[in-house]
Amino acid sequence: MTINQLKRKIKELELRNEELRASVGNEALHGWKPDVRIEKQYSWIYTWLYPLSVYLDKTVDPPTRNAVMTFVTATISQMSIHGKYGVKIPNDPQEIDTETYFKKQREYIQLNYDPCDICGENRITHQCHIIPRGEGGEYHKDNFFTLCPIHHHLFDHNRLNKDEWAVLSELINTKAQSAIVYFREVREKQQIEFWDKNP
Ligand SMILES: [Zn+2]
Repeated sequence: MTINQLKRKIKELELRNEELRASVGNEALHGWKPDVRIEKQYSWIYTWLYPLSVYLDKTVDPPTRNAVMTFVTATISQMSIHGKYGVKIPNDPQEIDTETYFKKQREYIQLNYDPCDICGENRITHQCHIIPRGEGGEYHKDNFFTLCPIHHHLFDHNRLNKDEWAVLSELINTKAQSAIVYFREVREKQQIEFWDKNP
């Protein structure tokens, strides 16, 4: 993809986001209610968070908005993970990590990526959520591994082998407390299930 194609793509996405915001943030929206249309684009958690974000944009200053959003996201995530897996993660809200975001954009444009935490591949890597985005996992380096596309896919589908897992199992200790608990109590159990079935 050329830089110009990339810029066009970003512009397209910005326009779509604007449309989305306009569709949700109408005057009839008294506070916070879910918008099911968002689910198709993002995930169920954002059917709740998106309208809240639009509402707060209009009613409070940006720092307050960010503080409320990070707190609410962390709380919904905690409740959802407890409901889904019976696992109680700590509530440790972290504001969206803009530094990582801009670094990712630069890497993308310059085709210059951090190496995969598992294999060192650096032609292309992803910032891979430990607590998934769809479960309220935050966009923050303390909730990311850097993984090549293959290891990212294997990680998301609990199909890493024991040696690969051991590398992440060491690295996880440098991450957020909520990510550590999720890794041990949710992901590791699914991994072990895979190893049991595929000895
Ligand atoms: Zn890799």
